[in-house]
Amino acid sequence: MAFEDIAGQDPVVKRLRVATEKDHLPSGLIFYGIDGVGKKKTAYELARSLNCLGADPSCSCDSCVKIAHESHPDVLFIEPDGQYIKVDQVEPLIEHAMLRPFEGKKRIYIIDRAECIREETASRFLKTLEEPPLFAHFILLTAGLPSVLPTIRSRCGLFHFSELTPLMVEKLLVDRFDFGSDEARRRAALSGGSLGRSLSLEEQDFAYYAETSAWLDRSLLMGEMTPGELVAMILKEGTKTKIDLPDLQSRIDLMMEMVHDGMMGTRKLPGHFSGITETFDLYIRLLQARALISGNVAPEMVLEELLIHSDKEPLGKWTETFIRPLSWA
Ligand SMILES: [Zn+2]
Repeated sequence: MAFEDIAGQDPVVKRLRVATEKDHLPSGLIFYGIDGVGKKKTAYELARSLNCLGADPSCSCDSCVKIAHESHPDVLFIEPDGQYIKVDQVEPLIEHAMLRPFEGKKRIYIIDRAECIREETASRFLKTLEEPPLFAHFILLTAGLPSVLPTIRSRCGLFHFSELTPLMVEKLLVDRFDFGSDEARRRAALSGGSLGRSLSLEEQDFAYYAETSAWLDRSLLMGEMTPGELVAMILKEGTKTKIDLPDLQSRIDLMMEMVHDGMMGTRKLPGHFSGITETFDLYIRLLQARALISGNVAPEMVLEELLIHSDKEPLGKWTETFIRPLSWA
C-alpha cells in the first residue's frame, strides 16, 4: 500500500503529502465524498506514512505491518455503535489522545460516518479537536458533509474525494480484482463513480436497471410522459428501501444516457421532448443534479431540485409518490 495506489484522488493525495512534508497537517481532518472512493484507505495510508519507521513506500517495518492489519495501538478506528457515535465511544479516545504514542510517532483516530456525531457527543470532543496534543490527528470520514455538525466542520481541514470515472472503475476492477473486461464494464456502468459500489452490485441490481430501461422504452414508445414523470420513473424505488448518492448518481447517469440518445435520434423520446429546447433543458438539469452530487449535498436535496424544476406542471403528486416512501442512507 502506498499513496500511489489510491486511484482518482490525486489532488487530495498531493495536499496530504505537502502538508505532511511541511509538518502542517491539521489536527482534525474531514475526508468527504461518496462511499467507496478511497476515504478509509487514504486515512490508513496517511496513518501508515506518519508512523513508518522506514522510508520505502512498500515498507514492511513493524509499524507498517501492524497498521496494515489494523492492530497498531496508536491507530484506532471508530464507527457508529448503532445509529450514532456515542459519548462512551469518544470519551476513552479523548483520554487516550492525551497520552504520548505507545509505539509510533503519531496517534491517529479514524472516525467513520462523522455525520453520526450528535451535539451531546461533539461537546465532549470539541476541545480536544481545537487544542489537540501535537502528536494526535483525528480523521473524520463522511459521505454526508452537510450533516456533519458545523462546530466540527469549522475545526477541521476539509478534503474532498471525487467520484471515479467509469473507465477508472473498470480498470481497477480488472487490474486489482481480477474481473474479466466484460463484467468490469458492466459493473463500472452502474457504479455511480464508486469502486465500493461496483464491487457490491448484485444480480438483482442489474435486473432492476435492465427492467427500468425496458419499461421506459415501452412507455416512451406508447407516448405521453412528462419530463417530471420521466425523472420520477428513473428515480423510482425498486425493492430497495434506501437510496444513497452513488445509487442516485447511477440512476441520473442512466437517465442522461437516455436523454442523450434521444437528442442524437437513436432513441425515441415522448411527445413533450419533441422540441430540442425541452430535451436540452432536461439534460442541463441532469448535469446540474450531477454537480450537486459531486458537491456532496444530501440526496434528498438533489431530488428536490430535480423534481421541482423538471416540469412546468405542478409536481406535487410525483413528489408524494416517489419521495415520501424513500428513506435516506
Ligand atoms: Zn514502514
